Amino acid sequence: MARVRVGVNGFGTIGKRVALALEKQPDMELVGVVKRKPDYIAMLAAKKGFPIYSPTVKEAEAFEKAGFRVAGTLEDLLSRVDVVVDATPNGQGAENKKIYEKFGVKMVFQGGEKPGVAEASFSTLCNYEETVGRQSLRVVSCNTTALLRLICTLDKAFGVERVRAVIVRRAADPREVKKGPINAILLNPPRLPSHHAVDVKTVLPGLDIVTAAVVVPTTLMHLHHVTLKLKTAVKAVDVLEALKIAPRIIVVSSEETGIKSTAEIIEAARQFRPMNDVPELVIFEESVAVEGGEVMLFQAVHQESIVVPENVDAVRAVTGLAATTEDTLKITDKTLGLRKTLW
Ligand code: NAD
Repeated sequence: MARVRVGVNGFGTIGKRVALALEKQPDMELVGVVKRKPDYIAMLAAKKGFPIYSPTVKEAEAFEKAGFRVAGTLEDLLSRVDVVVDATPNGQGAENKKIYEKFGVKMVFQGGEKPGVAEASFSTLCNYEETVGRQSLRVVSCNTTALLRLICTLDKAFGVERVRAVIVRRAADPREVKKGPINAILLNPPRLPSHHAVDVKTVLPGLDIVTAAVVVPTTLMHLHHVTLKLKTAVKAVDVLEALKIAPRIIVVSSEETGIKSTAEIIEAARQFRPMNDVPELVIFEESVAVEGGEVMLFQAVHQESIVVPENVDAVRAVTGLAATTEDTLKITDKTLGLRKTLW
C-alpha cells in the first residue's frame, strides 16, 4: 500500500517531535520539514536526514550560507505531500491555511490556533471515528488533550456527569529563556472559567465542565487537580482499575516509587526515555480518592510531548488510513513505544 506523504511546517518544540514520530509510522512517509532559521534545532533535522524546506526563498539563502542543504520552499513541500501538520507558533497556522488550501492538502493544526481554523477539534480517545475523512483537524492543546484522555476514559467506564479542574501550568518550555513569571503565581486568567473548559467543549459540547488555571515558575510539566462526578457509584479501586488498563495513561504509585513531583517524573524519564519525553498522561495513584460521590485525583502532563501521538492519529483520521480508534492506537502506541510505566 502506498504510504501517505506528510510534511511538517514549523520545527520547534512540537514540530520536531511530530516529525520524529511520523518517521516511525509504517503507513506514512515524512517528505520534509519547514524550518525558518538555520539554528541548533535545524541540526537535528539535518542529522536525522529530514529534507529541510524554508518558508520562502529568502530564508533558504541563510540556510545555504550556514552549510545546510535546502530541498525547496514551503510551496515546493506542499506540492509533494497529501497532508501538512502545522506546528508554527500560535495564530500563524490560520495564516498558513490560505496557502495549504491553494494546494488542496489535508491539514492538521495545533491547539494554539482558534477552534475555527479546522473542521473539528480532535482527541483520539474521544472523537477519532467521527473525524475520519475530514479535510482539516485541530489537535487540542496539551492541557486539553490530558483532560480529554481522562474524561473519555472514565466516561467509557462509568459515565461522566460533571468535571471541575484546577490547572497548574508550567510557565515556559525548558528552552524558552525569555518567558516568566520567575517569582509569582499568576492567575491565568483571574476570571473563571479558564479557556481549557471552553477547549474541552469543542470536542465534548454537552459536558458540564469548569476549569481554573494558574501559571507557576517551572518548565517541566503541568499539574492538574481534577474532580469528576460520575454517573455510576464507584470506589477508588474501581477508578484505578479503569485507569490502569486505559491506553496513554500511566498510574504511578508515589509510595512504591518515591515519585511525588513533576521533577521526579522527568528525572525518571531522563533515565529511560529519548529526550525525556512522557507522551502518556501520568496519574498519581495515591491521590485518587472518592468522596461524596466525586472522584478526585492529581495528574501530570508533559506539555512538550503529550500531543504527539494525537498528531499522528490526526494524520490517520484525515486520510482515512485507519477506520477505528483501536486501529490507530495499535500502530501509534507501538511505534512510539508508549507503555504503562515510566521505565
Ligand atoms: P515553537 O516556538 O517551539 O515552534 C514553532 C516553530 O515554528 C519555531 O521553530 C519557529 O521558528 C517556526 N516558525 C515561526 N514562524 C514560521 C513560519 N511562518 N513558517 C514556518 N515555521 C515558522 O512552538 P511550539 O511550542 O512547538 O508550538 C507550536 C504549536 O503547538 C502552537 O499552536 C502551540 O500552542 C502548540 N502546542 C505547544 C505545546 C508546548 O507546550 N510547547 C503543547 C501543545 C501544543
